[in-house]
Amino acid sequence: MSSVTKSVDVAVPVRTAYDQWTQFEEFPRFMKGVRQVRHERRAGSDAHRLQRALAIVAHPDDLEYGAAGAVAVWNEAGRDVAYLLATRGEAGIDGMAPAEAATVREAEQRASAAEVGVDTVEFLDGHRDGVVEYGVVLRQDLAAAIRRHRPELVVTFNHHDYWGHGTWNSADHRAVGRAVLDATADAGNRWIFPDAGEPWTVRWIAVAGSPNPTHAVDIAATFDRAVASLAAHRAYLEALGQDARTVLETIFGAPPVVRFELLGE
Ligand SMILES: [Zn+2]
Repeated sequence: MSSVTKSVDVAVPVRTAYDQWTQFEEFPRFMKGVRQVRHERRAGSDAHRLQRALAIVAHPDDLEYGAAGAVAVWNEAGRDVAYLLATRGEAGIDGMAPAEAATVREAEQRASAAEVGVDTVEFLDGHRDGVVEYGVVLRQDLAAAIRRHRPELVVTFNHHDYWGHGTWNSADHRAVGRAVLDATADAGNRWIFPDAGEPWTVRWIAVAGSPNPTHAVDIAATFDRAVASLAAHRAYLEALGQDARTVLETIFGAPPVVRFELLGE
């Protein structure tokens, strides 16, 4: 569990376990945090101000199963959010060969991002879906992107070995998530990857899908946009036989909140 428990501009504290979030008696505590953040905004405090976020994940669809509703909240509040995908998810559709799937899934990811107001979507080259290797090559690619985008907040997907329900996480999520955490530190050190741009210090990292959430974002107002964002992965969902709204109602509960493990100040 992170030691970070205070409200920041990104999200408010979670002090309850995942399944307790659907219990009504826990919700007022969450709402109290929301009011506190709003009060800070009215007071004009810039101490915890979010201007730019960069979301970095392994595959098209990773953000849509975990964070797109929160991205829409930040976007509607005037924040600038960009996406960086380590792969094009080319190994993600059993009935479609990788060369075709890469093209289809890149287009679906761009359409998906547009549903939550994100028009900057970048893809790394040189990292293959399913066999992404953690290492200095990936760290340098990510550090260079962080230095170029200069975000206060970096969002990524579960880097832990396990999901909250105890099943093993995928190799790509573990590799990319851990590389994001390390590259965020690398980006601030001018002597690490000195040819990859000017140093940049990230203030927060928010890990979506973490088994150890510390903060949450109320996405009741943006839930339909989150559904549209996942539904934009049309070929992928068809192959899985999934309905976007049903999936997200199951993941986020009612009232819907996106939980993050927030690392940072
Ligand atoms: Zn994934």
